[in-house]
Amino acid sequence: MKIGIIGSGVGGLSIAIRLASKGHSVTVFEKNHYPGGKLSQIQSNGFRFDAGPSLFTLPNLLEDVLRLSPDYDNKFKYKKLDTVCKYFYNQSEPINAFSNINDFAAECERKTNTKAFQIIKYLKTAEELYLQTSNVFIFNSFHKWKNFLTEPYKKVAKHLHKMDFFNSLHHRNKKSFSDPRIVQIFDRFATYNGSNPYKAPATLKIISHLEHNIGAYFPEKGMNSITEALVSAASKLNVSFLFNHQVNEIITDVKNKRVVGVRSNGESFLFDALVCDADVGHLYRDLMPKGFKSHYSLKQPKSTSALIFYWGIQGTYPDLDVHNILFSENYKLEFDHLFHLKTLPADPTIYIFISSKMVASDAPLNCENWFVMMNAPENVGQDWEFLIKQAKQEILRKINSVLKIDLSDKILCEHINDPRSIEKNTHSVNGALYGPASNNLMSAFWRHPNFSNRFKNLFFVGGSVHPGGGIPLALASAKIVDDEFNSAIL
Ligand SMILES: Cc1cc2nc3c(=O)[nH]c(=O)nc-3n(C[C@H](O)[C@H](O)[C@H](O)COP(=O)(O)OP(=O)(O)OC[C@H]3O[C@@H](n4cnc5c(N)ncnc54)[C@H](O)[C@@H]3O)c2cc1C
Repeated sequence: MKIGIIGSGVGGLSIAIRLASKGHSVTVFEKNHYPGGKLSQIQSNGFRFDAGPSLFTLPNLLEDVLRLSPDYDNKFKYKKLDTVCKYFYNQSEPINAFSNINDFAAECERKTNTKAFQIIKYLKTAEELYLQTSNVFIFNSFHKWKNFLTEPYKKVAKHLHKMDFFNSLHHRNKKSFSDPRIVQIFDRFATYNGSNPYKAPATLKIISHLEHNIGAYFPEKGMNSITEALVSAASKLNVSFLFNHQVNEIITDVKNKRVVGVRSNGESFLFDALVCDADVGHLYRDLMPKGFKSHYSLKQPKSTSALIFYWGIQGTYPDLDVHNILFSENYKLEFDHLFHLKTLPADPTIYIFISSKMVASDAPLNCENWFVMMNAPENVGQDWEFLIKQAKQEILRKINSVLKIDLSDKILCEHINDPRSIEKNTHSVNGALYGPASNNLMSAFWRHPNFSNRFKNLFFVGGSVHPGGGIPLALASAKIVDDEFNSAIL
């Protein structure tokens, strides 16, 4: 079969590999001159920065795909981090989230009024929840009636009350811990898919299981090497890449309920099936013939976007780890700003990711590459120039006051990514990082399925559709579409 894929994000690359490994002829259209979408890199003045994702979980899902390459050489190497994250607070000493759960629990007991067993118990319940729900919510299509008759679905339906759908993540965490610092650590997992912990169902606590029980990893050559490994595997399977090829239109045969091909750079390309890795909102808004709407709500509230400063920094800072969080004082207020006021909070939580701590060549000698990020609202036309200027001042002030590091004469080079540039570079609607937010009980049901109800040979992968955003879920979406190809009559 001749298959066209729109977009070379992690979802697009992995479905390309999966389908090519079955003998299909696969062509990937990518509007940019480089692959990877959000999972790409920036190089400047001797520094290398991973542009988007920094946290790598469930590496086995990636390996499952890479192994499909005919001469998979195991060259893609990654390490488990000793410390998952280092959490800093305005008024108290930092908490190290050691990857060893007992050490992490002991650290929490030492530094807060939380007992070690409470951390261990919480993570145990997160694991149980993951084992009960992942086959329903992550690794299978959620939109096929036949799946509702299978055992995992029946189990979830039978034990609905145990799935914690009806509490917010924050509510659950407040019930589990009395120390606000620990509550904030576990609330933060809602942001891993761009959601609001005060609204998102407590079921999202399964994300803490991925990070703490299974582990946080880092590729030996940085996050962008995930894209490089996928492109290399795809090329070995003879996947064709058309870079600088933006798809402008999907050609349809409405009578026969089929998509026929795409228009790109003024040419028509015909295919037997299409897979869209671009944001599904972009597809319906910009690529489908006028009048085609999805009956899945594409108007759902969007996930957060991000404001990122990529700073080449003079000096090395041993008190910082690879992943560092400087928490805000009032988390609730921060999320009200992001989701209701749609602006940047005055006191943001700041994330500092320094890959040169793991990959020495990512920065010149005696320097570090700082990826400094704060969550931002989706782009709805805010005055970003003004907001970015204000945010930079606040970030520098906070780094100075919490970490006692004065960066005023230490920034050797700077790049900025904001919701507008994220939208422009990846076509993610409003710059949202993870498609729709999971801010209510129905979010999972309203996510767009991995197939089209109108066109039997049109499929969807990537962070904007089921099962959701983030590298592991984008990889899972490709597996679901692969399974769908096996069973669909095209
Ligand atoms: C700042 C940031 C931090 C993140 N942190 C993490 C993290 O730590 N861990 C994690 O797991 N995830 C993280 N994520 C999310 C993760 O990056 C994404 O969920 C994942 O990479 C999305 O992959 P995707 O398959 O949806 O494709 P995308 O990366 O969205 O790529 C889509 C591709 O399609 C192309 N395209 C779009 N429209 C067209 C068109 N019309 N024609 C041709 N090509 C088109 C785009 O150019 C792009 O290359 C982060 C994202 C960002 C931006």
